[in-house]
Amino acid sequence: MSQPVPIKIYPRLTSGRFNNIRVALVILTQLVFLGLPWLQWNHRQAVLFDLERHQFFVFGASFWPEDFVYLAALLVVSALGLFWWTTLAGRLWCGYSCPQTVYTQIMLWIERLVLGDHKARRKLDAAPNSAGKLLKKGLAHSLMLLFSLWTGFSLVAYFAPAGELASNLWQGQAGPWEVFWILFYAAFTYLLAALLREKVCSHMCPYARFQGAMFDRDTLIISYNARRGEPRGKQADKSAGGCIDCGICVQVCPTGIDIRNGLQYECIGCAACIDACDQVMDQLHAPRGLIRYTSEAALEGKSKGKPAWQRPRVLFYSSLLLGIIGLSVFSFTQRLPFKADILRDRASLVRETDDGWLENSYSVRLINSSESAQRLAISVEGLPGIRLVAATPTVSLAATATETIGVRVQVEPQHAARGANDIRFVIRSLEQPGHLLQEKSSFIGE
Ligand code: SF4
Ligand code: SF4
Repeated sequence: MSQPVPIKIYPRLTSGRFNNIRVALVILTQLVFLGLPWLQWNHRQAVLFDLERHQFFVFGASFWPEDFVYLAALLVVSALGLFWWTTLAGRLWCGYSCPQTVYTQIMLWIERLVLGDHKARRKLDAAPNSAGKLLKKGLAHSLMLLFSLWTGFSLVAYFAPAGELASNLWQGQAGPWEVFWILFYAAFTYLLAALLREKVCSHMCPYARFQGAMFDRDTLIISYNARRGEPRGKQADKSAGGCIDCGICVQVCPTGIDIRNGLQYECIGCAACIDACDQVMDQLHAPRGLIRYTSEAALEGKSKGKPAWQRPRVLFYSSLLLGIIGLSVFSFTQRLPFKADILRDRASLVRETDDGWLENSYSVRLINSSESAQRLAISVEGLPGIRLVAATPTVSLAATATETIGVRVQVEPQHAARGANDIRFVIRSLEQPGHLLQEKSSFIGE
């Protein structure tokens, strides 16, 4: 059953084991997101999606548009991973590591620092406008905006080297798109985390709406033990249950709901109410767990006692995930450290050489996708006597470099049929002769 929530929520600060986990995850995720663009690897940014050069670097691996399949696999694994995790553990993602939760938490820390605890903030909002109120609120929102700008800068720094971007911004020489995306992402962070907060989870997040379909009776949920808690009343009242109706579980809830009314879609699974109620129980010298992590089946005493991962739905997602991850890793480890694109010159289809052979021209684009220099030899096969004429049939490529060279392919007229003939370009690594790439192409006969 859902209940009306207050228009503005002032969540009370809580502490406890689940809050400690959330704080640790906020720090960890921000260390990674804000820090990664500054990490260097092999004399360049460790993670850089260089859109201008069409190269993506992730530590020691470099990717090209041809490696799109790995990005597709990553997206599928992320989506399936979220299904798997939700079926297994309910809204743990929302409560601890969703960017909306993480950034809202940071904005709340800023508010607490400048404006005080939940009571002080409520009092300040209710107070008539004054210079002091304006100053305090202005300072809090300036700090939130500053942090939002930092997130915008960090996002763009994954696409443009961070050091260069910072110095360009400092000198007022950053490109219009870079400035646009920094401001756009900053505005997005500020709007969602500083202004809208829990309303995003309750009214805008599609994941909150469809995840119910992924829950089963054994999914981990946060629940109030009504059998132990009801009827509510003072501890001294012998006929009352375990809940003393102090309301602290509601005061700490970032979405302003009362978990005692049952499972509600607004609940983001942050466990603040568990921490709060456990503290109340400690003070009353009563056992913890009036609000706790459990499952519908366990609440009804119908849990089969099987480990969570052995449920059919979890097993299905697990095997699918393992299969896709295994295939992707296998394919990645078998990936050649170079690539080639062959483009036939369509302006001059075929011409005759001085010694009477037929000749077609091609552009060969070679990509060194490894972190070390490579020498590559080019040859051509597929028609009797076919030969390659190039200024240099061996190309030296620096680490992660690309080079395009023009080559000519010649065939005696009697060996090339009219129209297109199938041929193959063969690219061999001179450092590792086992590394060989064959690219199909065609040779136009007369
Ligand atoms: S914190 Fe615990 S005891 Fe207090 S109202 Fe909530 S459930 Fe009842
Ligand atoms: S009901 Fe509890 S777990 Fe759910 S959002 Fe509120 S405080 Fe977090």
